[in-house]
Amino acid sequence: MENCLFCKIIKGEIPATKMYEDDKMIIIKDIDPKAKNHFLAIPKSHFKLLAEMNEEQSQLVRHCLLTIPKLQKELGLENGYRLVINQGDDAGQTVFHLHIHILSGQKMGWTPA
Ligand code: AMP
Ligand code: ZN
Repeated sequence: MENCLFCKIIKGEIPATKMYEDDKMIIIKDIDPKAKNHFLAIPKSHFKLLAEMNEEQSQLVRHCLLTIPKLQKELGLENGYRLVINQGDDAGQTVFHLHIHILSGQKMGWTPA
């Protein structure tokens, strides 16, 4: 997808700190961390919302969800972690290529703001 930041990162056109990569997804460090550890798992297919996800893309998201727990040691998730998928304006989605935030490294509260 033209002009999509995460498509460009996947293609290697924009640099990012890669923590993991396979044929279905990439995990990078978030450039502006919202927790002590903050990574982004990005499926290698461009779509904006879960509501727009096709069958093939759902397999990529499934792969992300199955792989993240296997990377606990590499990503420092041993004490727990939180996954977040922002959807649309109220959630503050800013990059319109579906991605899963992986937050860890500290105790987290439960406030939406
Ligand atoms: P969201 O607000 O859910 O769309 O999340 C987008 C995330 O992408 C934010 O947490 C940003 O800090 C992060 N981000 C934006 N640009 C970059 C970049 N060049 N490399 C890594 N993360 C980025
Ligand atoms: Zn994209």
